[in-house]
Amino acid sequence: MNLHEYQGKEILASFGVRIQRGIVAHNAQEAVAAAKQLTEETGTGWHVIKAQVHAGGRGKGGGVKLAKNLNEVEEIAGSIIGMNLVTPQTSAEGKKVHQVLVAEDVYYPGESETSEFYVSVLLNRATGRNMIMYSTEGGMDIEEVAEKTPHLIYTEEIDPSTGLLAFQARKIAFNLGLSGLAFKEMTKFVASLYKAYVESDSSMFEINPVLKTSDNKIMAVDAKVSIDDNALYRRKQYAEMRDLREENPIEVEAGALGLNYVDLDGNVGCMVNGAGLAMATMDLIKQAGGEPANFLDVGGTADAARVEAAFEIILKDPAVKAILINIFGGIVRCDRVAQGVIDAYKNMGTINVPIIVRLQGTNADIAKELIDNSGLDVQSAVEFQEAADKVKAVLA
Ligand code: GDP
Ligand code: MN
Repeated sequence: MNLHEYQGKEILASFGVRIQRGIVAHNAQEAVAAAKQLTEETGTGWHVIKAQVHAGGRGKGGGVKLAKNLNEVEEIAGSIIGMNLVTPQTSAEGKKVHQVLVAEDVYYPGESETSEFYVSVLLNRATGRNMIMYSTEGGMDIEEVAEKTPHLIYTEEIDPSTGLLAFQARKIAFNLGLSGLAFKEMTKFVASLYKAYVESDSSMFEINPVLKTSDNKIMAVDAKVSIDDNALYRRKQYAEMRDLREENPIEVEAGALGLNYVDLDGNVGCMVNGAGLAMATMDLIKQAGGEPANFLDVGGTADAARVEAAFEIILKDPAVKAILINIFGGIVRCDRVAQGVIDAYKNMGTINVPIIVRLQGTNADIAKELIDNSGLDVQSAVEFQEAADKVKAVLA
């Protein structure tokens, strides 16, 4: 589950990570009030107004702006709230901005230059260990750094039995070219950041930029935080932070129905039970020359009602040109699923896309008979290859 910058920063701060402070505002008046309060608390005269949407690259899209007085706060907040923010990470339509973070300006002049770093914490799936990835090239597109100057990206793996060790935090501060107070600050920053990552059950932290201020403090200016969905049951305070407006509406609806659905770009909808079979089915669709329109695992209880709900979800995607139903009847009986398909088809009235059904396992023969005798435009397949060929034929 992804969070907004302001929510991510709240979590970081609760673990003692230093952050650029800010207050959320939903309209221009609230933004001015927030700016006044920040001035009282921090002494800052300048503020940055930051669009809160689930997408990076907001600065490039005009979603992060500096305000040098309260009039500018009002003006900028007023123009950002309600806009459709287009960034390199959004679609062409952009994302509607419902709220902004009014933050203290932390790029103030002082005894030394400011520097921007990149720090993320994530799981290295190859080794099964958490790692800290970091770079001197902060504030920029890290993908571009990885492509053009990969030697400027460092990684530090963490042994789960010891956690992050003091020498590792010092190594990171050293590789980032820091000394004196900034060095000490960075070791503290990294240690508290790692603790926050582990104890919040996060699956990703990306802090870009981490800022060294002109008075040598180290702080998170941005925060991209994802909490592991599988841990939300025990992290209720984070589960409450979910902002459904930021998520794909069809995925939200499918989730509420208990369907495991991920929207994809292709043209063949698929309905499968079990994640492994769903992956194999997506491969099958690709081999047949199609592209999967979705990943959909209807789960172990693929009864008529679930099949119908899944149909409705798949058909909400206008790109779908064919549907492949691939169900293995283990506990679930194939004839029940077949009946579910037939009922759903009848109940829904107009399904204008061809449907190929492959039911294997318990009572598969009865299921095939039911489908073949239903009189509906549903084709049944027994073998995997046969299903692929039928998909190919309907796409041709
Ligand atoms: P992103 O573009 O979505 O990654 O948003 P960020 O939170 O990273 O902000 C984008 C950029 O805004 C940063 O890289 C900074 O250069 C700039 N920025 C953020 N906070 C401040 C601030 O307090 N003062 C000034 N002058 N610039 C800031
Ligand atoms: Mn950023």
